[in-house]
Amino acid sequence: MDKLVLASGNRGKLKEFQQIFAQRDIRVLPQAHFNIDDVEETGLTFVENAILKARHAAKISGLPALADDSGLEVDALRGKPGIYSARFSGPEATDQSNNDKLLKMLSQVPADNRTARFHCVLVLMRHAEDPTPMIFHGQWQGQILSQARGTQGFGYDPLFFANDQQACAAELPPEVKNQVSHRGQAVTKLIRALQLG
Ligand code: IMP
Repeated sequence: MDKLVLASGNRGKLKEFQQIFAQRDIRVLPQAHFNIDDVEETGLTFVENAILKARHAAKISGLPALADDSGLEVDALRGKPGIYSARFSGPEATDQSNNDKLLKMLSQVPADNRTARFHCVLVLMRHAEDPTPMIFHGQWQGQILSQARGTQGFGYDPLFFANDQQACAAELPPEVKNQVSHRGQAVTKLIRALQLG
C-alpha cells in the first residue's frame, strides 16, 4: 500500500492522517481528488456508517480507503444523539442549536444521571469488497453539564465534562484533547496496528 483515499472532506482530518501515514511513505488523498461525493449514511451504527463511507470511496477510487464516524452517546436519552449527532436539531442544525436541544432534553435529568461518551470508529478497507475491514474504536467518558463552558473545540465540547481530565472538553487545549479524545484513542489504535508509530 503506497496510497489511500480518506473518505472525508474535512481538512483537519486530512492533514492529521497525511502526517501519520507519511512516516510509512503512504500518501493520503482526499476523496475530492476523485470527485467522490459523500455517500448517504443509511447505517444505524457508527461502524456501519464508517464502512459505507470507506466502501464507497474505495469503489470509486480503486484505492484502499480510510473513513471515520463519530458522535455523542447520552445514557439518559438511550444513546441519542448517537449517529445523528451532527444533525440532532434538524437539517439546518448548528452546534448551538444541537447543544440547546440537548440541554432542553436533559433539563429534568439530575447530575448523577447525565453520563455520556463520545465515540469514534475508524475503518480501513483494502478494497471495496474487503470482507474484513480493520476497525478501531475509541471512547471518551464524561457527563453532560447543565451550562456551556469553555471556548475551544467544536460540536458538543462546551457541554461535555471529560472524567479523565476533570475539565470540560471546550476548556482543553487542542493538543490535550487530541491525545485523550475518542478520536485520539482510535487513531492511536490504528497507528499501533499498522505499526506506523
Ligand atoms: P463526524 O463524524 O466527525 O462528522 O462528527 C459527527 C458529529 O458528532 C459532529 O458534528 C459533532 O456534533 C459530534 N462530535 C464528534 N466528535 C466530537 C468532538 O470531539 N467534540 C464535539 N462534538 C463531536
